[in-house]
Amino acid sequence: QDDQFKKVISHAKEYGYVFQSSEIYDGLSAVYDYAQNGAELKKNIRDYWWKAMVQMHDNIVGIDAAIFMHPTTWKASGHVDAFNDPLIDNKDSKKRYRADVLIEDYCAKLEAKIDKEVDKAAKRFGDAFNKAEFISTNQRVLGYQEKIDTTLSRMAKSLEKEDLADVKALIEELEIADPLTGSRNWTDVKQFNLMFGTKLGASAENAMDLYLRPETAQGIFVNFLNVQKSGRMKIPFGIAQTGKAFRNEIVARQFIFRMREFEQMEMQFFIKPGTQAEWFEHWKETRMKWHLSLGMGEDNYRFHDHEKLAHYADAATDIEFKFPFGFKELEGIHSRTDFDLKQHEEYSGKKLQYFDHEDNASYTPYVLETSIGLDRMFLAVFSNSLVEEELDNNTTRTVLKLPAVLAPVKAAILPLVKKDGLPEIAKQIVDDLKWDFNVDYDEKDAVGRRYRRQDANGTPFCITVDHDTLEDNTVTIRHRDTMEQQRVKISDLRDLIKQEVDV
Ligand code: ATP
Repeated sequence: QDDQFKKVISHAKEYGYVFQSSEIYDGLSAVYDYAQNGAELKKNIRDYWWKAMVQMHDNIVGIDAAIFMHPTTWKASGHVDAFNDPLIDNKDSKKRYRADVLIEDYCAKLEAKIDKEVDKAAKRFGDAFNKAEFISTNQRVLGYQEKIDTTLSRMAKSLEKEDLADVKALIEELEIADPLTGSRNWTDVKQFNLMFGTKLGASAENAMDLYLRPETAQGIFVNFLNVQKSGRMKIPFGIAQTGKAFRNEIVARQFIFRMREFEQMEMQFFIKPGTQAEWFEHWKETRMKWHLSLGMGEDNYRFHDHEKLAHYADAATDIEFKFPFGFKELEGIHSRTDFDLKQHEEYSGKKLQYFDHEDNASYTPYVLETSIGLDRMFLAVFSNSLVEEELDNNTTRTVLKLPAVLAPVKAAILPLVKKDGLPEIAKQIVDDLKWDFNVDYDEKDAVGRRYRRQDANGTPFCITVDHDTLEDNTVTIRHRDTMEQQRVKISDLRDLIKQEVDV
């Protein structure tokens, strides 16, 4: 697992997908840059989402709200008071950690112990079954499992009640140590607000404290009535938006899974109170279908319904994806009731109500939210696509099997040799196709090596121009995943590629 994840990270760098931010200065923790191919892949994922959510829905429109918002927004939304993670400092090492992550890591170690016990037992019992040994293994495993369950549930309860002393007590009882130094010299557990603050204004005295938005959703809520009126929208309707969000995450690891600057793709669907249960089911199903439409394997997704709900929600589920480090949240679907609009009504003193002509009555709409991290989706697609294949001739090839619709470069045009007029024809094909697709021209190295390079780059098609092309205007088109080659007319290329890469 770890190895596969390391391969993903190094492949992303080597093939121009993701670089560490300001790498020449040794980088900035949990901040990343998208490189030439990464920017294309990211844009294609965003477009794929936008098309499904906005273009294909008559009753959903998209907006692009500012990152800066009036600071009262974040009072109303609850972020100033409650957007916290539990933080613990180590007096000796001066390192800070997220208390809940330390506890979760401890539980993950117990889980690894269970796996080891089970593996060992399977090997031993393969030789000869020993009942006494079987029972003692079983008891050990059950013991570990019980410890995991009680630890996690005590932590969840303490965090919910904001009983941070108990979180600290738990860390002490479990004898959890600093992962780097082994020291147990902790200070108290404190709440740490995840919002980044900044200032607006020229002079220090008059400056206004602002936050970088930690989610895009609030830009939609405060614009609810503006959009409804100017777009003459009728409930049920949705407002979608993609854009940057910022969180001062204490634990920043797992590459682009958890970043300090990231991008969200969110949609808030405004509905009549009382209809939220059916819309919740509708959006669960719709969003799962969107994921499955990319053909990345049904087994890689699962729902995780929340038992413990945030104060504003009456139902919530995560769509989890099987990342190289296990199943983790990719998207959240939340039934947020009228919490957000009511809060903004209270703090702004303005009504955010909808007049329902059928009922001849006004009400504050309920909201269903779908919220997905674009960078997490990028990681899901990228990590799932990277495979190493054994070939018949005992060699291996590295292929990035990106869904064709998302691939940064749709086709590479390769002249077989750099002479006899073949490059000129290849360049002419590039010039024709680039109106419709992002295509590449590649003439360096033997054609076999160029195929491998394009495989690793995720390019779905290679188009080779050879001497027969001079005679009959046909070329070879090679499919990345099957490596099958077809002879086709140059004039048919556009339609052939379109079939695969159009949604
Ligand atoms: P997590 O529990 O993983 O911190 P969350 O529950 O706080 O996530 P939400 O606030 O529901 O996440 O945000 C919606 C989506 O935004 C998440 O499903 C995830 O895809 C993405 N997201 C949230 N935080 C980050 C981050 N730090 N880096 C990248 N993507 C993120």
